[in-house]
Amino acid sequence: MRKKLMGYVGFANFPNQVHRKSVKTGFQFTCMVVGESGLGKSTLVNTLFNTQIYPNKQPAEPTHDCPQTVEIQSITTDIEENGVRLRMTVVDTPGFGDFVNNEESWKPILDNIESRFDAYLEQENRVNRRKMVDNRIHACLYFITPTGHALKPLDVEFMRRLHTRVNLIPVIAKADTLTEEEVVAFKQRILADIKHHNIQIYQAPAYEYDDEETIAENREVMSKIPFAIVGSDKEFEVEGGRRVRGRRYPWGVIQVDNEEHCDFVKLRQMLIRTHMEELKEFTNDVLYENYRTEKLSAMGIQQDPSVFKEVNPVQKMEEERLAHEQKLAKMETEMRSVFHAKVQEKEHKLKQSEEELYARHKEMKEALDKQRIELEEKRRRLEAGRPMTPEKSKKKGFSFNK
Ligand code: GDP
Repeated sequence: MRKKLMGYVGFANFPNQVHRKSVKTGFQFTCMVVGESGLGKSTLVNTLFNTQIYPNKQPAEPTHDCPQTVEIQSITTDIEENGVRLRMTVVDTPGFGDFVNNEESWKPILDNIESRFDAYLEQENRVNRRKMVDNRIHACLYFITPTGHALKPLDVEFMRRLHTRVNLIPVIAKADTLTEEEVVAFKQRILADIKHHNIQIYQAPAYEYDDEETIAENREVMSKIPFAIVGSDKEFEVEGGRRVRGRRYPWGVIQVDNEEHCDFVKLRQMLIRTHMEELKEFTNDVLYENYRTEKLSAMGIQQDPSVFKEVNPVQKMEEERLAHEQKLAKMETEMRSVFHAKVQEKEHKLKQSEEELYARHKEMKEALDKQRIELEEKRRRLEAGRPMTPEKSKKKGFSFNK
């Protein structure tokens, strides 16, 4: 039940407090770009932030010892707009889809995304969790080659492998190479393929408190996925003397920032203006949380779904340590009592053999005494019955031969 206040309390100022704190600490966002080389990834990133996040690329020298694996490169830039700071990290994946055999191209990318989750999990397990660094990938722009046909097996494989780990945002690269009708048909084919393969691409949630305008705006943005984009860092003069960013063709200029020409504006709106926090939240609450649960249950630690967020791995480890200590203590008492019983048994045996020895000794002593008495008796009897020696008879006054 919602209660009405009788007067002004002040918590209506919460949003301002959050705003001030956010402005002070700044924002941070990590975006990954994946797609074959030459599809315009770096150009798009530079166009999105209207700054040279990517240094000008030199065309690659033809070389025979080309790399055999997908690399992961990240560039971090601090950008500021009206006093609000954004630390933007772009993670590029050069080499993806560029080899003769691209079967496992997705693997180093998935490993990289998961290792970022691991690093975050490790920080959560630390005692001091005040300075958490969030290097998780919050969004992944997947560049689709503008073939006009359908998704390639490599596209399907990549999205199927990655969709539970990252917010996938598919984009049609270099959309200016397709006609308007081709773009519409291509989008339909891509969405049908995505549905067919049960791939989950990013969907912005709708909230009950959203006003009509926000709902309509969200619907409009989402209806443009996969965004057909055109990137350019060059400016041209168009009718009326205006300078616009775009790509010049013999028949005119395709304008990057013109919604009639491409979906660049909608992509930027979603990624930066309206859904950056949503993307971060979904990464943390759903993608990372699922990964964490899978990882912990693989380690044999069960999570009770009712205390989904509350189960703390540190607490879990502490409980395990206690259980282990209790087990050790129990084993120690058991061993102690076994030892005690053995000692008692030995003592008892020793006592018994001592008594036996004593009894035997006594018996022998008695037998010896008896033997001695008998011998003495015998001697006495012998002495009594034997004739006396001459000296003895002399002493007694007897004389022979007289
Ligand atoms: P990356 O290898 O994916 O990073 O591609 P780059 O951004 O280096 O772009 C490769 C080439 O494609 C460059 O010559 C760009 O000028 C060009 N390019 C980039 N974006 C577009 C685009 O939207 N349309 C067209 N026609 N060309 C583009």
